[in-house]
Amino acid sequence: MLEKVLIANRGEIALRILRACKELGIKTVAVHSSADRELMHVRLADESVCIGPSPVSESYLSVPAIISAAIITNATAIHPGYGFLSENADFAEQVEKSGFIFIGPNAQMIRTMGDKISAIKKMQSLNIPCIPGSGDPLTDDAQANIEIARKIGFPVLIKAAGGGGGRGMRIVYKEEELIQAISLTKHEAGSAFGNDAVYLEKFLENPRHIEVQILGDGKGNAIFLGERDCSIQRRHQKVIEEAPAHGITEEQRQYIGSLCVKACEAMHYRGAGTFEFLYKNGQFYFIEMNTRIQVEHPITEAITNIDLVKEQLYIAAKNKLRYTQDDVRITGHAIECRINAEDPKTFLPSPGTISLFHPPGGPQIRFDSHIYNGYTVPPFYDSLLAKLIVHASDRKTAITRMRNALDETVINGIKTNLSLHQKILSDESFQQGHAHIHYLETMLKREAEKD
Ligand code: ADP
Repeated sequence: MLEKVLIANRGEIALRILRACKELGIKTVAVHSSADRELMHVRLADESVCIGPSPVSESYLSVPAIISAAIITNATAIHPGYGFLSENADFAEQVEKSGFIFIGPNAQMIRTMGDKISAIKKMQSLNIPCIPGSGDPLTDDAQANIEIARKIGFPVLIKAAGGGGGRGMRIVYKEEELIQAISLTKHEAGSAFGNDAVYLEKFLENPRHIEVQILGDGKGNAIFLGERDCSIQRRHQKVIEEAPAHGITEEQRQYIGSLCVKACEAMHYRGAGTFEFLYKNGQFYFIEMNTRIQVEHPITEAITNIDLVKEQLYIAAKNKLRYTQDDVRITGHAIECRINAEDPKTFLPSPGTISLFHPPGGPQIRFDSHIYNGYTVPPFYDSLLAKLIVHASDRKTAITRMRNALDETVINGIKTNLSLHQKILSDESFQQGHAHIHYLETMLKREAEKD
């Protein structure tokens, strides 16, 4: 097993990683910015190091600061969590060059998946179904680009190869708008991502977002742990996730899951990973692969009873996968609500001090959070306060259980989106399973018009 893990993250995921390390008898190092001295995991870690001031560029995104902290504390491995440096290939490379284990895939894998064009090419070569598109980056040949778009069929989506976080995309409905839209997107991508390569893809209308969780040991073995439906999104940010995805048959699950497993085995993929798909009319279309643990991993843990973070640690210690595909059994239905410090109507962040906190309880309720009574949410970082996860025998019971758990939750002193979650869960169309990736934004627009 690993001896000492440095946790290169903050908030709930840092605490989640700390708990997994403690269960496995691994020593922990917390690194934090000067604004984060009061974080729960900093108090609980064996050692802690302040790595810089509050701006992320000088702390959580500072590669030298994190590597130095690992050197002075004699850490053996670094867990990047999600966000921050978790999908930064240069960081992964630097970690390994400095003699530490990077808890995740190798730098080359992260690099391939980080460029959308190279990721799609890789997936196509591994028989993963992709969205019809140009495949290659677009050239300056206007006529050729029009031909490509005609072949795909309008509406088309222009996407930046280096895009991320829902940025660097533009929908084009009409042929006469194409050329100008391409040059605009290229220009924006160049300044935002330092890479002006763009490509074309068919724009799918109102698909669902369905993703497959996998684990690989880097030795050619991989398994999949079912799928998640993450269609409830606002500005491409997930708000509610469910596992399994309702309406997906066992046959479909095995079909898409085993394609992902075969791809991971062929790539000798190491660590936890997620294949993200858009799903429409019974078809899966690959959009991207995340080479890290995801925010919504607990719902998969609930339905499979497998601890994904512990498995990441086992794999990083060069063990073979501890589970075979036959060990993975899916039971019941799980839902996660992301509770954010934000105004439920305007979505403006709401930092400040929590004057009263009371978490929900009862059977099959999990509350992953770093907050406590008197904790002050700093204004510098993302607004995720907590993840409320419920598990039940079926989807209907899970929805009821979640509504009750949300009712029990008290977070006073700052604004939260608890009421937004209640609104979504009580919506008939959501309950019937009709949600797609534009469902929430349509619902919010309707609400705004009513006010
Ligand atoms: P990012 O890396 O920025 O998250 P993705 O490729 O994962 O980019 O796409 C983000 C979101 O954009 C998807 O979850 C989906 O909502 C939407 N999207 C992406 N590609 C398409 C497409 N071809 N058709 C319709 N929506 C799309």
